[in-house]
Amino acid sequence: MKKLTEMRLEDFAGLSYPCSCGRVHRVDIQKIRVASGCLGELPEIVKELGGGPVYMLADSYTFKAAAQEAGRLLEGAGIPFHGKLFQTDKPLVPDERTLGEALADLEMEDKLIVAVGSGTLNDTARFLSSRTGVPYMVVCTAPSMDGYASTVCPLILGGQKITKPGVYPQAILADTRILKEAPMPMLTAGFGDIIGKYTALADWRLSQILNGEYYCDECAQLMAHVVEKCAENAAGLKARDEQAVQYVTEALILSGVAMGMVGNSRPASGAEHHFSHFWEVDALRWGQEHPLHGNSVGAAAVVSASLYELAGSRLPEGFPLPDKGRILACLEAAGAAANPKDLGIRWDLFYESVLHAMEIRDRYTILRFLDAQGLLGGCAAELASRFYPGGKE
Ligand SMILES: [Zn+2]
Ligand SMILES: [Zn+2]
Repeated sequence: MKKLTEMRLEDFAGLSYPCSCGRVHRVDIQKIRVASGCLGELPEIVKELGGGPVYMLADSYTFKAAAQEAGRLLEGAGIPFHGKLFQTDKPLVPDERTLGEALADLEMEDKLIVAVGSGTLNDTARFLSSRTGVPYMVVCTAPSMDGYASTVCPLILGGQKITKPGVYPQAILADTRILKEAPMPMLTAGFGDIIGKYTALADWRLSQILNGEYYCDECAQLMAHVVEKCAENAAGLKARDEQAVQYVTEALILSGVAMGMVGNSRPASGAEHHFSHFWEVDALRWGQEHPLHGNSVGAAAVVSASLYELAGSRLPEGFPLPDKGRILACLEAAGAAANPKDLGIRWDLFYESVLHAMEIRDRYTILRFLDAQGLLGGCAAELASRFYPGGKE
């Protein structure tokens, strides 16, 4: 059997892999396709999954980007479908209203839900699918986040961010010709989410060394391998180069796959995600808009890598530091934010987040390491002065 790093993304569908970590990793997704022009394969994939009637979810943007064409393709293949089109002038939010509206149009005879979109539409379809038992697949429209191959639904319920369990999509179809035309902040967000894996993987390794936490070297290597490909093509992303967009899309899908294989989010999420979450929760509390998840994660990866630098020689001997210079250079080349200040994060919120982001989850990261050494307060002051040279302003 091939090693994970030698496999193509599409080979991960349906995988059962006896790993050197002692576990058998499984991927319960039937089909993964990332290619130029692959939207045309939609009818075939729908048939493989048992055919229609299909219930398609889209919004004003994704209708133009892909759903209109998807509808034409289904019609041409004689597959019955109907849709729910969310009219949006503001970004769609996965809240009670969106979930309710999506459910209200689901018919008894529908056999497959097709989400045409990225974050919210995918999360909505996943929630609907998990509660109704109607399988779903996703047609990706933006390489903006790593939740495509995920089994959880981050929702906004009662104004709070709440993550509920869901199911995998049966198929993921990502046409890079469509993805490369996504709004630039969505492209940089996907890239930022991937660059955040540098620090996420460091946190996982650190916890393995210090706490004996379960760690899968093959999955970690797999992630490091795909992150590196994205990093090497950072400048291409800014130019909407299709190959660069393909690398980011594949890495985002693989992040979800790796989390599923390991059984938790370690391969994809560490302290940088806790920062991003902390900032997002604050914005929700004040009813303000917040940056796209991945754009926060990218800037937070610089913060997290800076914390590793400050920890320096206190870390276990020979511990490989996440390369802050490389992270910064990649974000800059891709045109993504590298400083929380540039995302509108206030000085006081930043300072608080260094002290308290670790309380978001019971998970060991560089934040808990520094806290245990009594160094976190000093780090908060040091980083606040580095990232906010003008002070509180
Ligand atoms: Zn393993
Ligand atoms: Zn993420």
